[in-house]
Amino acid sequence: MQAVNEIRNVGVIGAGTMGNGIAHVFARSGYQVVLCEVEQRFLDRGLEALRKNLEREAAKGKISTDDAQASLARVTGVLDRERLADCDFVIEAATEKFDIKKAIFTDLDRITRKEVILASNTSSISVTKLANVTSRPDRVIGMHFFNPVPIMKLVEVIRGMATSQETYDQVRDLAGKLEKTPIEVNDAPGFVSNRVLMPLLNEAMYAVMEGVATPEAVDEVFRLGMAHPMGPLTLADFIGLDVCLDIMRVLQDGFGDPKYRPCPLLVRMVDAGWLGRKSGRGFYQY
Ligand code: NAD
Repeated sequence: MQAVNEIRNVGVIGAGTMGNGIAHVFARSGYQVVLCEVEQRFLDRGLEALRKNLEREAAKGKISTDDAQASLARVTGVLDRERLADCDFVIEAATEKFDIKKAIFTDLDRITRKEVILASNTSSISVTKLANVTSRPDRVIGMHFFNPVPIMKLVEVIRGMATSQETYDQVRDLAGKLEKTPIEVNDAPGFVSNRVLMPLLNEAMYAVMEGVATPEAVDEVFRLGMAHPMGPLTLADFIGLDVCLDIMRVLQDGFGDPKYRPCPLLVRMVDAGWLGRKSGRGFYQY
């Protein structure tokens, strides 16, 4: 018989950049995955990306063609959230807006069994606040994957104020089963990754705005002098300048410290629709 907390069926909410990557790593590790979206076209796009990424891994010899096909067959796409009722663990990777996540967590709390852990892949929203909309705050936790999920090794595991030790232990073990390295952090604006990374990117933008150096020169300093695989402005373009701005505002609001003031150049670029790689223009042209 299945133990109460044994995880076999995993629900993933959102099939965007992160959601399809998260579905990918769970399916590749043998879990049955229910991938839930709001619209058929987003679901189709996510499943298509997942299929292509698995095929690419097979073409590179990282997994066998049989494993790639079996992984894909373990993923079921759904539009109806009620289909998550049989899941033993659910991770939310929907749009980074508190109201959207609040509605999802309220619903998940009603739909899933009471012992099921509900995780969020949020980059900046308070896990404690999300937990508080459920009747099981001890079973809510942050499980922050990095992009591209099938490749990046890190999972930041974020304890909310009420997250139990048992929940933390299970999610840490789960990350290990996905061949990821879990790092424990407490709930605070930006956690560790974005709290440290975003001010670096923001400062690089100030250097450009003030004419200290060109974007190319700033990036070369970090690539050649600090052995970063890409410079801060290339990375900001890759992440999306709108996402960078949102996270700076979370840090500014959360800490109330002027050192987190978003660079005015960043604000202007986002206003202009220059969002980086995804819009074709950011600090560089694509
Ligand atoms: P995305 O815009 O690519 O995907 C979000 C998806 O969620 C969209 O397809 C949207 O249709 C779907 N969605 C919205 N509301 C939904 C709902 N109620 N039910 C089901 N699906 C819903 O965004 P993303 O980059 O994948 O980010 C998702 C989450 O992961 C965010 O919380 C973000 O902060 C976090 N995150 C992003 C990155 C990154 O580098 N992109 C890294 C770590 C964490």
